Amino acid sequence: MRPLIAAVDLSAIRHNYTLAKRCAPGRQAFAVVKANAYGHGVREVVSSLHGEADGFAVACLEEAAEVRALDDEARILLLEGCFEPSEYQLASQLGLDLVVQGSEQAEALLASELPRPLNVWLKLDSGMHRLGFAADELRRWHGRLRGATQVTELNLISHFACADLRGHSLNEVQLDSFLDLLSLDFDQRSLANSAAILTLPAAHMDWLRPGIMLYGASPFADLSAADLGLKPAMSLSAQLIAVREIAAGETVGYGATWEAARPSRIGTVSCGYADGYPRHAPNGTPVVVNGRRVPLAGRVSMDMLAVDLSDMQEARVGDPVELWGAQLPVDELAQACGTIGYELLTRVTARVPRRYLA
Ligand SMILES: *Cc1c(COP(=O)(O)O)cnc(C)c1O
Repeated sequence: MRPLIAAVDLSAIRHNYTLAKRCAPGRQAFAVVKANAYGHGVREVVSSLHGEADGFAVACLEEAAEVRALDDEARILLLEGCFEPSEYQLASQLGLDLVVQGSEQAEALLASELPRPLNVWLKLDSGMHRLGFAADELRRWHGRLRGATQVTELNLISHFACADLRGHSLNEVQLDSFLDLLSLDFDQRSLANSAAILTLPAAHMDWLRPGIMLYGASPFADLSAADLGLKPAMSLSAQLIAVREIAAGETVGYGATWEAARPSRIGTVSCGYADGYPRHAPNGTPVVVNGRRVPLAGRVSMDMLAVDLSDMQEARVGDPVELWGAQLPVDELAQACGTIGYELLTRVTARVPRRYLA
C-alpha cells in the first residue's frame, strides 16, 4: 500500500466545536461541514458530532441530503439557498433551514407548494457584496415572507468579509448594518464565522457558524491555532521511499530548479500535487522527517516530492514524514505557499485514504 494517509482526529473536532460554543455561552452553533467537512470526511465528522452539534451548515442540496441521511434531527442550513425552483420541494422534504439570498430565490419560494414550511434565513448583504439583499430590499422581503405559508421561522443572516483582519473598518460597518435590521421581528439571527466567534463577541447573535476552527486551523494570519486553543484535526503523513547522495552542482526534480550547493543527501517522499500538496510550494518549504524539519528541494511532482536530508544523515527509507499536522501546522505550510489552511485542507484528493481516530 502506498504510504500516504490523512489521519483525522475526531476528538479534536469535538474539542474545537466545544471551544466555539464556550466563546459564546448560551448560543447555538451550526457546524460548517461544506466541501466534505473541509476535506475531513462529512460522514465521519457529522457522526462524531451527532447529539453534540445543534446543527450543520452546507453549501448545496446534495451536501444537505448527505447530512440528513446521517442525522434526522439536527437543523441543516443551506448556506447559498436553492439554485433552481425544483429544489424547494426537496429542501422542504429534508426539513432544511434555507438561506434566501436574492429576489429570484424569494419569488421561487413563494411560488412553491411545499409538503411542509421551512425555516428561512433572509440574507443581508452587509458589505461582502457576494450574496444577499440590500437593507431596504430586505425590509420589503421581510414583509412579504412574514406569514407566508412556506415559512416557519423568519431569520436574519449575514457574512463578514474581513473578520480575519482584526480592527478592519468594514467589520464595524457590517455589524452596524446587521444591528440596524434588528428592529424587524426575526426569530433567529446569525452573523459569526470562526474569526468573529473568536474575536467579535458583539457579532455572536443566536447562531454561530464555525467552519475552519472546527478543523483546528486558524482564520488569522497572525494568531496560530495553538494560540487560540484549537487542536489540529488532520495530519497528512507519508514516508521516505528513496534516499540518495548527489554531488555538488547536480540538480533535483523537474526543471532542475534545485541545485546542490554541496554534496547532498536527497529523500523522496510519497506525496505529490495529485494528493493535494501544493505544486507551487517553494524550495525550502518545511517538511517534517522523523520529527524534524527539513527543506523541500525542487519542484513537487504529481506523486512525489523531494527533501534535502543533508543535515539528517541518519534518515532511511521507510522513515515517517509529516506534510502537515501536529508537528507542522497546516497554516504554517499555507503561509509558506502563499495560500490559506482552508485551501490545503479542502484540496486533499480522493486518492488519499482517510484514517479516523475516535
Ligand atoms: C463557509 C462559511 C462559514 C464558515 O466560515 P469559517 O471562516 O470557515 O469559519 C460561515 N458562514 C458562511 C456563509 C460560509 O459560507
